[in-house]
Amino acid sequence: MTDPVKKTFVLKGIAVSPGIVIGKAYIFDRLDAQISFYKLNDCSLIPPEIERFRTALRESEKQLLEIKKKLSNLKVMETLYIIDVHIMILKDRNFINRTIRSIKKMCVNAEWAVRMTIDRYRQIFDKVEDEYLKGRFSDIRYVGQMILRNLGGEKQDVIPQMGEGVIIISADLSPADTAQMKIEKVQGFATDIGGKTSHTAIVARSIEIPAVVGLENITRRVRTNDLIIIDGSAGLVIVNPDPEIVRRYEVKKRHYEETREMSLIDAVLPAVTRDSHHVEIGGNIEFIEEIPSVISHGADGIGLYRTEFIYINREQLPTEEDHFSIYKRVVETEKLNWSTIRTFDLGGDKFLSDPKLAKEMNPQMGLRAIRFCLKEVDLFKVQLRAIIRASAYGKTRILFPMISGIEEIQKAKKIFYEVTDELISQGIPVGEDIEIGVMIEVPSAVIIADQLAREVDFFSIGTNDLIQYALAIDRVNDRVTYLYEPLHPAVLRLIRHVVKTGHDAGIRVAMCGEMAGEAAYTMVLLGLELDELSMNPLAIPRVKKIIRGATLKESKALLKKVMTLSSAIEIRAWVEKTMQERFPEEFPNNEH
Ligand code: PEP
Ligand code: MG
Repeated sequence: MTDPVKKTFVLKGIAVSPGIVIGKAYIFDRLDAQISFYKLNDCSLIPPEIERFRTALRESEKQLLEIKKKLSNLKVMETLYIIDVHIMILKDRNFINRTIRSIKKMCVNAEWAVRMTIDRYRQIFDKVEDEYLKGRFSDIRYVGQMILRNLGGEKQDVIPQMGEGVIIISADLSPADTAQMKIEKVQGFATDIGGKTSHTAIVARSIEIPAVVGLENITRRVRTNDLIIIDGSAGLVIVNPDPEIVRRYEVKKRHYEETREMSLIDAVLPAVTRDSHHVEIGGNIEFIEEIPSVISHGADGIGLYRTEFIYINREQLPTEEDHFSIYKRVVETEKLNWSTIRTFDLGGDKFLSDPKLAKEMNPQMGLRAIRFCLKEVDLFKVQLRAIIRASAYGKTRILFPMISGIEEIQKAKKIFYEVTDELISQGIPVGEDIEIGVMIEVPSAVIIADQLAREVDFFSIGTNDLIQYALAIDRVNDRVTYLYEPLHPAVLRLIRHVVKTGHDAGIRVAMCGEMAGEAAYTMVLLGLELDELSMNPLAIPRVKKIIRGATLKESKALLKKVMTLSSAIEIRAWVEKTMQERFPEEFPNNEH
């Protein structure tokens, strides 16, 4: 559980080493703030001070050579040249002479003189235009800090009591830094500076841990022991995530690990069964930085953009222009055939810290999603205007969450058309074929699916909430997760009813809850004849592989059998057995 008073925020940087890690932050500080300054009050103290500096240089060189030896044992060959560069800097006449001159002229301690030399180099490098050369200043700073450490007589153990499994947060990291760490305890890196070829990136990739660099000020915004998530594929660091975000990323992490060994070459093949039944595949995103991953993992479009995440990073509510620039980037992405933008689902488990949302006794059933939008119409209109404007730039589908009755969708549509007319009368371009859909995630919406189908172009089944409401299982309460069962016969009947009703009315039916991304359920979902499955991007390749290996006919037969079984336990056992027999490589030992 996160500390409720700590605010969730997201930092965006450069994704340099893929994977997801959730853990405690450890701030790796290289003594920068602790440099002492004192005047040598007697000129006779100058030669011993210079000698102290020279000893620190020799000591640093010795340590670098030791680190080099250690790195070659670790076979991190790409990084050895960096140590050579550091040794060259240690021996650089300019660096040494400048420092000695400062000791002599200003009569100051060696630490301060080294600091002044580093500052001088920083000024020079700041003026360099070439980004690569500019980045090389980090080598000088690293060497300077090493000398400072040796001047202080400190030993090399710079991470004295690093706890179990930490994420290292630092201004920058040199491979030598990482060589001194108990690397098996490090789960990820996040740094203020750096790029794809910076040392942190190279080291992280070579030891296969997630890393994000170029975050600018993470060292100032995070404290040791803060809970953080690093998404090394999207280049995001989420600080103090709320339990729902942690849960989402645990799922992402699992999918990432399941598909890590898989080649992504096949991921772009269409999701067509062996008997030619085609399913559209969407990717679910919370941040636009995930779009490249959606594409590389083989989605046809964005099946669910959870726009409420736009709200968590700000002190102030986002403006129409903030929304618009984000949605435009989504819909105009070339390799996406369509993008489903869900209007914000604030409230409930999501972002209770928002001052506009009062604390509620039972937030899951409180003033959230469409209910909140219909109450705060001005706020809703800002988002709608932006989505409709963005629809001029690419195929857009708009999705309304938490619809529980016909009047909610009618009201939402009325506002949608008002906003569209307003934009048109202002001469602002809007898309011509924007599709309107509703999330089917409240049991009442399932029951009145026939009425809702007359109002919209598509349904998208949100199993996360639908299961929670249908089975009365709080999705964020760990004590009842054992009852959260997507294969419960009631859940399967609800889904079957929605698909049939949607198809009878001639509309498309998608699924965008977590259930859609579980490869163990793929044949059941094929049997249910969903037109689109939208999921966590990392889950896509495996689900597509199952679709390509199965037939619609056998999936329907499986579903028929499953529907005769009366308990979730029986259904799960049957589905697992079938999947193990059909896809032994994917489901080797009781995995689901
Ligand atoms: C769902 O409820 O299944 C869903 C996709 O929406 P969310 O997880 O954002 O509530
Ligand atoms: Mg939902």
